[in-house]
Amino acid sequence: MRTQVGIVGAGPAGLFLAHLLRQEGIAATVLERHDRAYVEGRVRAGVLEQNTMDVLARLGFDQRMRSEGLVHEGVNIVSDAKMFRIDLADRSGKRVVIYGQQEVMHDLFDAANQLGVPIIFNANDVKLHDVATKPYITWREDELLERLDCDFIAGCDGFHGISRDSIPPDARTSFERVYPFGWLGILADVPPAHHELIYANHLRGFALASMRSRTRSRYYLQCDLHDRIEDWPDERFWDELILRLGPQAHISTGPSFEKNITPLRSFVTEPMRYGSLFLLGDAAHIVPPTGAKGLNLAVSDAVMLSESLAAYYRCGIRSTLDSYSDRALARIWKAERFSWWFTGLTHRFPETDAFGRKMQTAELAYLRQSDALQTAFSENYVGLPLN
Ligand SMILES: Cc1cc2nc3c(=O)[nH]c(=O)nc-3n(C[C@H](O)[C@H](O)[C@H](O)COP(=O)(O)OP(=O)(O)OC[C@H]3O[C@@H](n4cnc5c(N)ncnc54)[C@H](O)[C@@H]3O)c2cc1C
Repeated sequence: MRTQVGIVGAGPAGLFLAHLLRQEGIAATVLERHDRAYVEGRVRAGVLEQNTMDVLARLGFDQRMRSEGLVHEGVNIVSDAKMFRIDLADRSGKRVVIYGQQEVMHDLFDAANQLGVPIIFNANDVKLHDVATKPYITWREDELLERLDCDFIAGCDGFHGISRDSIPPDARTSFERVYPFGWLGILADVPPAHHELIYANHLRGFALASMRSRTRSRYYLQCDLHDRIEDWPDERFWDELILRLGPQAHISTGPSFEKNITPLRSFVTEPMRYGSLFLLGDAAHIVPPTGAKGLNLAVSDAVMLSESLAAYYRCGIRSTLDSYSDRALARIWKAERFSWWFTGLTHRFPETDAFGRKMQTAELAYLRQSDALQTAFSENYVGLPLN
């Protein structure tokens, strides 16, 4: 088999890239280790930046997002049991939409079926070869060894994939911060506590009231990394959430049907290109979910790489291939900074003593009062421009 771009991983980065390349007339084949139901079933991101909405519209896949997504023009922050609102639309001219990653993946897979984008599911033992020069990918399908020759490989296989490790260790540098806590998240079919998101900084730890629809809520609590799901029966979860979010959140309780604990990490590997291999999305970088940036960064990487590859195939301009990594990293580091800063401002760290807590409270009070800070917050939250 031969194609122009071999894409490893059918998550957001891989599927957005496949569709954007198709729109540019570039042939791509996607290899995915799992089946569609597994990838589509993962409960993850829920906040789409304006850039991501625009890309879905450009691809013509935004019909369901426009009818079912919830457009948010602001976010709320609780500090010292008092809530204040940041008007994102007023301060940045942009909005975010609440539309779950599961829905985005559903739309991308349906469109791939309709448009004939080749996706090979259940590809086992995927290996990348000769990534520096003439790359090819091998995998096992029903015990048979298959091979795909390509001009380029796009490593879109997430943080635990194989693409990043296909770059020799001496040709890459990684930067990492592992946070000393996790997020315990639940989904429940109860109406959301508020029509917009609420981020809470509480003495006992962070809490977030989010949603997936007008009838489905997504809630998170900062928890200990050693906590197990069994330690958090629904009753304990609701009690703690009500306490941390405070009286402004009108929480309806009910049985949860999804509960998971996610460790938090900031991670970037540089550069995001080695020879004919490009890295995109979580394969190259991770952000703590506080800033809601992970999926959105995967989409902006896909846009930037598709533009570089289109310029290369159309006009033979190699310099655009060379600049992909620098261009992507410039934006990624700003999103890393925002996610790290917002995490530091709203979470309780083991070393947060009385002084540290006073600093958090003072900074949140300043954010509440300052037009300049609220504008900076809004610009980052809705997503910085791609250029
Ligand atoms: C709890 C939680 C909440 C989040 N909330 C938000 C949010 O609100 N907003 C936001 O923007 N982001 C959020 N994120 C982050 C977001 O979900 C990820 O950043 C996004 O999924 C990254 O997409 P990706 O395509 O790069 O990687 P992934 O989604 O990890 O996809 C990688 C794909 O590659 C496949 N794969 C792996 N290894 C191989 C292999 N060897 N061969 C073939 N295929 C392989 C995997 O099966 C997978 O399908 C959240 C994440 C979590 C965990």
